[in-house]
Amino acid sequence: MTSAKYDRAAWLIGPAGECAQRPALSQAGRVVLLGAPGVGKGTQAELLHQSLNACHLSTGDLFRGAKNQKGCLFSPAMAVALESMQKGELVADSTVWEIVRERSRCLLCRGGFILDGFPRTVPQALALRQLTERESLTLNAVVNYELPIPEIVERLSGRRTCERCKAIYQVTQRPARIEGVCDQCGGRLFQREDDRPEAFAVRMEAYERSTAPLIEFYRNLGLLLSVAAAGSPPEICARTISELKARIASKAVKGTSQYFPI
Ligand code: AMP
Repeated sequence: MTSAKYDRAAWLIGPAGECAQRPALSQAGRVVLLGAPGVGKGTQAELLHQSLNACHLSTGDLFRGAKNQKGCLFSPAMAVALESMQKGELVADSTVWEIVRERSRCLLCRGGFILDGFPRTVPQALALRQLTERESLTLNAVVNYELPIPEIVERLSGRRTCERCKAIYQVTQRPARIEGVCDQCGGRLFQREDDRPEAFAVRMEAYERSTAPLIEFYRNLGLLLSVAAAGSPPEICARTISELKARIASKAVKGTSQYFPI
């Protein structure tokens, strides 16, 4: 797997975090990734980050990061959020928005963003829209990754994540060179609790009920790009970039020609 160009301290730590390096002006766009759990949004966000320079902003990473901080005292809201996450349920909109709002400088960052896992419900999308309108920011595209459910189940059951650098592997399609050990940093690979079969069913149900309606929401706003998530991660990434290019070329999005140096 690739590794992030930026440390994303402002996102991962929150208001107290300062990014070591900021993306240069106009090097990226503002993109939201949608798709069922396990479709590969995290992997694609990472690859797109390498091509577009925009930071990969994942709300799931935030919750997992909070959980892994040893000795950390959680606020009651975060403790409830982590309990929901472990069961595969969605975290309450108000909690998610509080956490994202605290990090709104990442959304306003001149380097753009690739949002992964947020928004996940229509109220979250409305909150994001309110913020972008208030700040006169253009959302350039919403990419919806599509894959048949049996393939998603197979991918998810074999997914392993590095506990240290968060690199993602797949036991059959993208195995680590040494089983259970990260190629990048030597960290231990683990299976996310919410990737276990009992949590997966709950996550799929939450996706169908709460996240799938976002497809219509963004289609109605003229922002939706559907991309087939079959094939290898680099193939899917190339497909995504070509869709984004076509979108810019069609001039469907005003004022974005300075984005996507691709
Ligand atoms: P992910 O890594 O995006 O699959 O997120 C892992 C888990 O974190 C989800 O199953 C939810 O429990 C929680 N989560 C992450 N992002 C959100 C969100 N935007 N809204 C509600 N729950 C979320």
